[in-house]
Amino acid sequence: MAGASKKQTNSKKPWYKEGLRFECTGCGDCCSGEPGYVWVDDHEIESLAKEMEMDLEAFERKFVRQEPEGKSLVEYPDGDCIFLHPESRRCLVYKSRPIQCRTWPFWDSNLSSKKAWKEACDVCPGSGVGKLYNLEQIEERRKEKEV
Ligand code: SF4
Ligand code: SF4
Repeated sequence: MAGASKKQTNSKKPWYKEGLRFECTGCGDCCSGEPGYVWVDDHEIESLAKEMEMDLEAFERKFVRQEPEGKSLVEYPDGDCIFLHPESRRCLVYKSRPIQCRTWPFWDSNLSSKKAWKEACDVCPGSGVGKLYNLEQIEERRKEKEV
């Protein structure tokens, strides 16, 4: 019986059970381009305000927009995140960047199938190459937030 249950556990492992590679090149592409959302909760907003040394209310007024699904960071009109430095292409709040940014590319949506992962690799030059993340490390990140 032990063998049977082990087999069942193995068969439940996801397609990326051998791990996936990711190493950010710092290109900034995931923080720019098509308009989108960087979802933030109250705790994340608080951390960001602290990093910017701003009063919480003033920070929220300037950098957060309310959407029907929740709160998201403001973008420049061209779709760049408000915290992406226009010249250096670096994140200005890197230490306190939201979970959504920290867990890329190991999002539910990117891990749902090999095809979805391939699409993530197509838009992010750091995905699919470089450092190998094992299943546990991937799952840790995937479960942090549903994206
Ligand atoms: S697109 Fe990928 S490689 Fe480029 S900054 Fe984003 S995570 Fe890094
Ligand atoms: S907060 Fe930083 S890492 Fe996240 S999208 Fe904006 S610039 Fe990129």
